[in-house]
Amino acid sequence: MNDCIFCKIVRGELPSFNVYENEKVLAFLDIHPVNPGHTLVIPKKHSPNIFEVLPEDWASVTETARMLAGVLEKTLSAKGVNLMMNNREHAGQLVEPTHVHIIPRFTDDT
Ligand code: AMP
Repeated sequence: MNDCIFCKIVRGELPSFNVYENEKVLAFLDIHPVNPGHTLVIPKKHSPNIFEVLPEDWASVTETARMLAGVLEKTLSAKGVNLMMNNREHAGQLVEPTHVHIIPRFTDDT
């Protein structure tokens, strides 16, 4: 067991609004959304960042992000979608475990 905040979400020890999950990944709404539908995709197996995530877990994260980008754009009637990832503190990573942001974009949201 570790104290990682997202691992606690995977284990159901912290609340989350889950958007999608399969054997390898979990996607849930960001607690401080930039826009409605702002979603995080994480591998269920803990890793700190892009440099250490297992290739098969990364493949599942990116395929899930690709799929959810389309689903979120359509269901929220968004005008586009940003995919984003921060790796290491200097690059803006605030929460350690590997995660990809999916941010739906709307008219005049800049
Ligand atoms: P960053 O590490 O800068 O890519 O961003 C981490 C993201 O995790 C931020 O957008 C936070 O709002 C989000 N976050 C932190 N804690 C939680 C949580 N318990 N549930 C959902 N999102 C979270």
